[in-house]
Parts: sequence; C-alpha cells; structure tokens
Amino acid sequence: MIKIKEWFLNRVKGRIAVSLSANTILPLILLGLALTLSGIISITYSYNDELEERLRGVSKQTREQFYAQYPYEITKVDGIYYSGDTSISDFTKILEQYKAHFNTDVSIVIDETVALTTIRDEFGNPYIGHTIDDLAALRATRAGKNYVNKSGKIAGRKYYCVGVPLYYRGYVIGLVFAGVPNASSAKSVKHFTIFIIILFVIMVTLEVIQITRYSRRVGDNLGHIRAYLEVLTQRQTPEETMSPRVLKRTDEIGDLARYVVEAGNQLKTIIGRDALTGLYNRRTGRQFLDLLWDNARVNFTSLAVVMCDIDFFKKVNDTYGHDEGDLVLKRIGAIMDKYCGEQKFAFAIRWGGEEFLMGFLLSGPQTLKVVNKIRDEVKEQVFVTNNNESYQITMTFGVVTASPAEEISSVIARADSKLYQGKENGRDQIVS
Ligand code: GH3
Ligand code: MG
Ligand code: MG
Repeated sequence: MIKIKEWFLNRVKGRIAVSLSANTILPLILLGLALTLSGIISITYSYNDELEERLRGVSKQTREQFYAQYPYEITKVDGIYYSGDTSISDFTKILEQYKAHFNTDVSIVIDETVALTTIRDEFGNPYIGHTIDDLAALRATRAGKNYVNKSGKIAGRKYYCVGVPLYYRGYVIGLVFAGVPNASSAKSVKHFTIFIIILFVIMVTLEVIQITRYSRRVGDNLGHIRAYLEVLTQRQTPEETMSPRVLKRTDEIGDLARYVVEAGNQLKTIIGRDALTGLYNRRTGRQFLDLLWDNARVNFTSLAVVMCDIDFFKKVNDTYGHDEGDLVLKRIGAIMDKYCGEQKFAFAIRWGGEEFLMGFLLSGPQTLKVVNKIRDEVKEQVFVTNNNESYQITMTFGVVTASPAEEISSVIARADSKLYQGKENGRDQIVS
C-alpha cells in the first residue's frame, strides 16, 4: 500500500499537468457546490413562497364561497352545524371540488373544532369534530389573524397550511385553511434538488474531463520541449524534430517550441560548421565520413576521399596579411562546396588550417573529373588585394578510392600520403 502511494507520488510529483488540473478542478468543484447549494436554497424558498400564496388564495376563495352560501349565524345542534336552518354539511362537496382542482386539503374550523374537512383519518373517515391541536392555529383563530404553519400536525400528519379567519358580523367564529402534506411539498423540492445535483454532476464531470485532457496536452507539449532541450544540453543536436502538434500551437507553448527549434538549428550550425568557410568542421565531418561509408556499404559502391592543401599559403599570409588569407580560404571553400553540391552524395570538410577533405560516392575516374574542375577553377581565381596587388594560388590534391571494407582512418592516411607526394613532386597537381 505504502509502495503504491510512493509510486503514485513520484509519478505525479512536479508534473505540470497534475498541478494544473488540481488547481483548476478543486475551485471548480467548490464553486459548483456553492452554486448548487444556493440554487437549492433559493428554489426551496421560492417554492414555499409560491405554495403559501396558493394556499392563501384557496383559503380566501373557500371563505368567500362559504359566506355566499351560508349568510346566517352558525349554530351547532347535536354535533351538526347549521347556518340558519340549513346544515352546512353539503359544503364538504365544495371542499372536495377545491381539493380536486387545487390539489390541497381544505378545512373549515368553527369554534376551534374542525367542522368540515377533506382530510381523512387513518380509517378513511373525515377528520371532523376534533379540537384543533395546533397552538399557532388556535392563537390565530382567537386573534382573528392570518395563519401560516410550515409543519402543522393534523390527523397525525404534518401539513404546510395557511389559514384565514372566518367572521360573522365582525366576530371571528373560526378559521378556513388550506394545506398540503409536507411530504408532497418536500417531494417537489426534492425533484428540483435532484435535477440540480444531476446537472452539477454532469457539468463538473465534463469540465473535469476537459481540464484533464487540456492539462495533459499542455504537459505533453512541454514534455516535448523539455526532451528537445535535454538533448541540446547534452551537446547533441536532436535527431527528431519537434512534434508538429506543438509547433502549430498559437500560444506561448508554441512560441517556446519554435524558439527552441530555432535555437537548436542555430546551435547545429555553430557546432557543426566552420565559422570562416561555412564548410563542415572536423567534428561533423567525421559523422559525414561514417555516412559515406554506410552509403557505400548499402549501395555496394566504392567511395573516394580527396585530401587537398593550398600551396605556399603561408606566403599569402606573410605577403598580404592574415585577413587576405582568410578571404582566400573563404573563396576556396565556396568552390569546393559548389562542386560537392552538384553530386548526389558529396561533402567538403575544413580538415585543418588550409587543408580540406572531400568525400564522394563516385568511382576513381568520376572523382578525378570533379577534382580537376575544382583544381582548374582554383587556379583561375585572381585575388586582388586592397592595394590593388593581384595574385593567384594553386592547390595540391591526393585522391584515393576505396571499398567500404577499409577503415576510414586508413583511407584518410592514404589520401594524406598522396597529397604529401604531390607536395614533394612540386605541388599544383593531383596525385591518385
Ligand atoms: P605548403 O605548400 O607546403 O602547404 O606550404 P604552406 O605555406 O601552405 O604550408 P604551411 O603549413 O607552412 O603553412 C600553412 C599556413 O596556413 C600557416 C598558417 O598561418 C596558415 N593558416 C592556417 N589557418 C589559417 C586561417 O584560418 N587563416 C589564415 N589567414 N591563415 C591560416
Ligand atoms: Mg599549404
Ligand atoms: Mg598545410
């Protein structure tokens, strides 16, 4: 159990997706709960207000009808109430009509005794002849005031009831009240409450799903950027480019990803290329040599390596200055780059100071053709200094072909020795 907990904590610790979700979901749930609660309370209140209004209306309407039907003084003979000579028992039918129409029980209390009512006792008999046992009702009857009781007990059941006093010639003689069992009013509120709670649960669930998904996406995207930076900080250039989904984002995460990729590309150039000539430096050159070997192996072809060096370059520096020497290196670099670019697979590396290495996936004769062109173009270059002095240079080339079975270092050593041979033999030549 502890292990699971530890595992879980380690998994989620420091994860942006988790804290993002937690920080958004918790307030959301609290807000939802508060809204639900206030909704239920306000619905209960307004339902009660509305119910009270309805019950008062029924009471008043009943009272008016009673006045119209029984204008004479109410008397009680042998437990039966009369208005003049007429028994008021028939009024029960009217009360039943009200009950059917308004869905409320209606009662008429005379002298603190229930004279007529639609309420029945547990045996199904009309609950009449009982002195009202609700103190509030009694008090209201005596004072001739309106009466409201949210849970008055009648016939063993609780009622929400509202009453109005019954007068005869200005004297209070009783009470007319309408009521609904608390259970039924609670049921209506309960329905509302359940509806609101279901709504709340659905909304929160949808929000939680949405927030979790969004947070996970943000976390994943940041994870991509993090992985990319991790490779960069290990002084490597990432093999895989950033996921297009992250790069396409139009927010800060997208900006971040684009900057990181741009920084990676610039870094790639900085660490992979020679600053002066723009050719590959020795470090990336090694990787390209590996690639040349792989290609030759896959395609069952031979490969060629060319080692070359500017003749008497020291003299350029000594005569015209180091800056002039730099310009020469730049121009030579550009020529080699141009001819390599024309090939399907070829590259030029600035191997050392004024020494270059080229790799080709060509046969010996094909390579010699390219190298001859380079040699000629170099020779044709006329360099003009700031002092209008002009000069030309030559280069010496060592060309070797090999099978990919031969070690890279051995092939380079052979090319190097050809170059040395060319220098020994008077320079400005191609030795193969
Ligand atoms: P060789 O024909 O035998 O190659 O003679 P060299 O004078 O070309 O050879 P050496 O090795 O004696 O001199 C190479 C010179 O290249 C020495 C060095 O100052 C110069 N050099 C190396 N790197 C740079 C560079 O980046 N810029 C400039 N301007 N000169 C460089
Ligand atoms: Mg040289
Ligand atoms: Mg040299």
